[in-house]
Amino acid sequence: MVNFISKSKQGTEKMLNFVVGCSFHGACKAKLTMQTVLFHSTIFGPIRSRRLGVSLGINLTPDDGKVCTFDCLYCEAGFNAQGPGTTGFPTRERVAWLLESRLKNMNEAGEPLDVITFSGNGEPTLHPEFPGVIDDTIALRDRYYPGAKVSVLSNSTRIDREDVCDALRKVDNNILKLDSALTPTIRMIDRPTSPSFTAERLVPLLEKFKGQCVIQTMFLRGEHDGCMIDNTLPVEIEALVAAYRRIEPREIMIYSIDRKTPEEKLEKVPSDELHEIGERIAVATGIPVSVA
Ligand code: SF4
Repeated sequence: MVNFISKSKQGTEKMLNFVVGCSFHGACKAKLTMQTVLFHSTIFGPIRSRRLGVSLGINLTPDDGKVCTFDCLYCEAGFNAQGPGTTGFPTRERVAWLLESRLKNMNEAGEPLDVITFSGNGEPTLHPEFPGVIDDTIALRDRYYPGAKVSVLSNSTRIDREDVCDALRKVDNNILKLDSALTPTIRMIDRPTSPSFTAERLVPLLEKFKGQCVIQTMFLRGEHDGCMIDNTLPVEIEALVAAYRRIEPREIMIYSIDRKTPEEKLEKVPSDELHEIGERIAVATGIPVSVA
């Protein structure tokens, strides 16, 4: 039995219990306690983001579970094993209605807003009406906060779809994940649910944005199921630099762990080391690097 403690941004806390098999120890059942954070609403915040400023969040995935095409060891929403919950995806109409209500109230109260950010309990582009939601959001942003940006944090797994790419091209900050340019490392850290997801297929798809994207890379070290993980090694940085050069994003955003992770044997890369890595990448690529 695994005990997942789910803690909402609003401060409520609940315990989720379920059984998982431990792949390292075969049939044995691991007894672990993991801290996870779910957003229990479609619109959340505004919150002050270290990367984005005053940010109003949109969670397009269910608000009582997680739905993602990755199952990252560091995911703040916890492992996919917790299940998708019961509420399902919010409809396009409901997202627009909720967003308009919030923006109108904030505007009338004179509250500032820098960015509307799609993130939440999973991968936002999985929403069946993602392109329509983006159109609605841009229209509402233009009406209530024309100076604010629209950002999407995506794990890049759905950019083989033309409608998803078209929608991502419309937003101000199309922030796409690339944690490693080496498939075995992606498999260890991000754990894609599709066996056909590889770095070799991903990088050419990222190139198609022709620079109209920001690449986000999480650096970490640690252990999972008896395997050592370290995407700060020279071989990793070399592969990432080669990929960044091909993709030519307008910016590279690097960061490390900030909160508790479902795999507790992960280590944060210290800030000074992260800055050194950022400098090396900026020099090697000529692309601006921000370190969060
Ligand atoms: S892509 Fe994002 S939401 Fe999905 S598992 Fe990774 S960190 Fe979590």
